[in-house]
Amino acid sequence: MQTVVSAQDFSCRHNSAEVLSDLNFEVGEGDYVGLVGPNGSGKTTLIKAMLGLIKSAKGCIRVFGYHPDEQQEWPKIGYLPQKHLSLNQGFPSTVREIVGLGLFARKKSSSRIRETDIEAIDRALELTNISGISHKLIGDLSGGQQQRVFIARALVNEPKLLILDEPTTALDPETRENFFALVNSLNKEKRVTVIFVTHDMGTIGKYASKLLYLDKRIIFYGSFDEFCRSDSMAHFFGESSQHIICHKHN
Ligand code: ADP
Repeated sequence: MQTVVSAQDFSCRHNSAEVLSDLNFEVGEGDYVGLVGPNGSGKTTLIKAMLGLIKSAKGCIRVFGYHPDEQQEWPKIGYLPQKHLSLNQGFPSTVREIVGLGLFARKKSSSRIRETDIEAIDRALELTNISGISHKLIGDLSGGQQQRVFIARALVNEPKLLILDEPTTALDPETRENFFALVNSLNKEKRVTVIFVTHDMGTIGKYASKLLYLDKRIIFYGSFDEFCRSDSMAHFFGESSQHIICHKHN
């Protein structure tokens, strides 16, 4: 199995404060990792380090075998940030244009849109089930529809790793379930590796295959089965919470 992300003794600082300490873990191809931890535990910092936006203080993190600074194959990563622009009604871009912006990650500014780009945009629109609204203005859409547009933008380069930072916070329950179903099908059918950042520890076990629980250091990393059987996690969370989190029992 290909290693998609690997961290070795990885530590990270903001100003003088160490916010991530000695992380060691590997994410393999096809994994669906729930990245969970309290507010301020370093989840976003870890994601930024994977994207090459923050430097390590010690150790290293590699994505597809590259240090993020030397990341040669950036389009392999699709990233849906925590907050997208809040878009006013009448924001003058169509759904198709917003999705097309995802292609610029790999283009030089002078590059023109080619036939293959149009096909890639069509595929991303289809996959996220928004072909029918591709000519609408983004500002005229509901929150759930806008979220689909942003995930289509993250998918337009057909990434092998999808990083989603708290993507469902603003969604109503039905739209949230649809969103999880879409991520699930990308993971299962297209073998896209998923890292799903959430503070919703009670829900992620329904969807993800692995749990990475962070609190500046790794408190737990492994499958939900391992989490369920772990004495140290029973001690850390309490048995009742442990089994609410693991979703292995009725
Ligand atoms: P999480 O995503 O789990 O809420 P973050 O990675 O955002 O946590 O933050 C981890 C810690 O680093 C927090 O204490 C936060 O205040 C601090 N931090 C985050 N970003 C910065 C920054 N740009 N400058 C200084 N401190 C920061």
